[in-house]
Amino acid sequence: MHVDLERLIRLQQLDSAADAARRRIGEQPERSRALQSRLDEAQALVDAARTRLTDSQTARRTVEKEVAVIQGRLTKFKDQLMEVKTNREYQAMQKEIEVAQVEVKSMEDQILDGMLEAESLTAAVKDAERALKAEQSAIDAERRTMDEEVARLSKEVDSAVAARQALVAQVDARLMATYDQVARNRKGVAVAEAKDGHCTICHVRLRPQVFNEIRRNESIMQCDSCQRILYFVPATAEAVP
Ligand SMILES: [Zn+2]
Repeated sequence: MHVDLERLIRLQQLDSAADAARRRIGEQPERSRALQSRLDEAQALVDAARTRLTDSQTARRTVEKEVAVIQGRLTKFKDQLMEVKTNREYQAMQKEIEVAQVEVKSMEDQILDGMLEAESLTAAVKDAERALKAEQSAIDAERRTMDEEVARLSKEVDSAVAARQALVAQVDARLMATYDQVARNRKGVAVAEAKDGHCTICHVRLRPQVFNEIRRNESIMQCDSCQRILYFVPATAEAVP
């Protein structure tokens, strides 16, 4: 194989690997934001559950105060009952007492309902807190994995860059300029495999004599359409040299 063609194939592998690693590293802020919003969601559920419990307790205390007021009134009525002079006054007072007693009964029922509600709301708060804690540790683990991945990928980029430098020094300068130009114009991919008479990236059909030349891997041939430098993998070969 043409010695520089072999180097360019290797160079393309290094560049593509480094690009992929950089892209993955570049996704980190977005992934981190997604994790944070999962945590915020779990926290919001805890906050909402706590608010429901507090609201319920506040409502119950309000009813408890009202009951105390009415019970005070009832005590007063009963005292007054002893002092009424006429039957009519007595009956009117009796009526007031009955109304107040019905009110007290209804409020006591409300208080009881409120206590039951507080129990289930307290359980809901505990559930939400447990879910938050579980989400927190899951997210911590994912962050650690992500940090490790980024560290590993950064190392891969560094070593690809170093290997690239060593390789570039060996490639003919004009050929290197061609590679760089095509890579710039073609989203970083300057080298492509030719297969079954086609460029495997832009899929253009190659002229038969061009394809035959590429099959020999002894010269630098560019795709007429996308300008990528083409190479051929013989059917018997296990992999690209
Ligand atoms: Zn092409």
